[in-house]
Amino acid sequence: PALDDVLDRLVRDVEDWPEPGVLFRDVTPLLADPPALRVTVERLTELSSELADGPVDKVVGIEARGFILAVPVALALGAGFVPARKAGKLPATTHQVSYDLEYGSATLEMHTDALVPGERVVVLDDVLATGGTMAAVDELVAATGAEVVGNVTMLEIGPLGGRSRLPVGRFGTLRTY
Ligand code: IMP
Repeated sequence: PALDDVLDRLVRDVEDWPEPGVLFRDVTPLLADPPALRVTVERLTELSSELADGPVDKVVGIEARGFILAVPVALALGAGFVPARKAGKLPATTHQVSYDLEYGSATLEMHTDALVPGERVVVLDDVLATGGTMAAVDELVAATGAEVVGNVTMLEIGPLGGRSRLPVGRFGTLRTY
């Protein structure tokens, strides 16, 4: 089956979660389906390679669903895995970036020595919504001197315009809603 059909069938819409008025795209049914999980990881790997247009040294996964996808993609690319985590979770010295959410703000961290200058990095997450999270992780990568060569997600919520916060040509996604 075509990937679009797989995503449409196995990404579940949950209304009013995590708060009233929000439509949450839940990817857990897709992760639980063996052929869907396989084709999703394969396509994310291909997309990452295309955007990178060269070797990839590290795949940065964004807590928490980005972790799940970033590890198999890193293995397939011959790259390492680096976590970008919510504040207070990483044990060693970190770079921090805070960014605005619809209500309040959030902080993400990455170990300062997780990437070195010149490394070529793909940043991976499950969903691009407003793009604030992805843009914040790009800042964390830039703080190390490494280079983001691709921003990749399974899904994009198109009307929120998140991709406009990322450099033109660097973002790729499997499906736009
Ligand atoms: P953004 O910063 O507004 O782009 O939100 C993206 C972040 O929030 C990602 O880390 C996603 O995992 C999460 N997120 C936002 N909306 C959804 C959704 O509908 N389903 C799953 N995750 C979402």
